[in-house]
Amino acid sequence: MLRRGLLEARWVDRYENQGKRSGAFSYGAYGTPPYILMNYQADVIDSMFTLAHEGGHSMHSHYSTTRQPYQDSHYTIFVAEVASTFNEQLLGKHLLDRATGRKERARLINREIEEIRGTIVRQTMFAEFEKIIHAIAEEGEALTLERLRAEYRKLLERYFGPGFVIDEALDLEGLRIPHFYRAFYVYKYATGLSASIALARAVMDGGKKERERYLRFLASGGSKFPLDQLKEAGVDLRKPAPVAQAMTRFRELVEELDTLV
Ligand SMILES: [Zn+2]
Repeated sequence: MLRRGLLEARWVDRYENQGKRSGAFSYGAYGTPPYILMNYQADVIDSMFTLAHEGGHSMHSHYSTTRQPYQDSHYTIFVAEVASTFNEQLLGKHLLDRATGRKERARLINREIEEIRGTIVRQTMFAEFEKIIHAIAEEGEALTLERLRAEYRKLLERYFGPGFVIDEALDLEGLRIPHFYRAFYVYKYATGLSASIALARAVMDGGKKERERYLRFLASGGSKFPLDQLKEAGVDLRKPAPVAQAMTRFRELVEELDTLV
């Protein structure tokens, strides 16, 4: 389906153009193709990962809007980034299987390590910060600049450990994350990637049954509670196992990178 969308059905406005906005996203309406806006650069590997990512959102939208009535076609954020990062997992595996040199392999592994660090570890730290500042506000205490900086610094120290230099300005970082204005958004990146790592693993190691189960998950759109949708797809986020598995994958990747550089 994605091949047809990208190569025949004109889902993607792919290249930079005068006056075109930057970045990339997937967007469609009920009854339209799930269009993708991109600024694709053929010599930048991240562009290919972005295309795979947005392609995941578009696959999700395509199956949701063609299999569900309008009122059940909108999927939640909780499952949205599962579909996008699932495709990145497949692309990563595809490239790793074909990587010839050490440097190429190291580059791909480093990318995956960074994705887990940035998405699971960092966003969890953001989520913890969010929880802390909401609790402070609920206790009726003032959210002063000093308090926000102090709380953020404590988390930086805990998450990065003593071997990491934390610049003075870094504790201002917590003030520039726009997602904090949409309460409890960020943790969904961490749960989303944990789920997609498990699902992609099941599909890559499995067969037709696993693939069809995944496509059914995409087609369920917004018709069910997200945790139940994922459970039916084979990942139970009510239990710690999917996050633990993602951390195991992280360790394996770091160990392999260690042997390559
Ligand atoms: Zn996305």
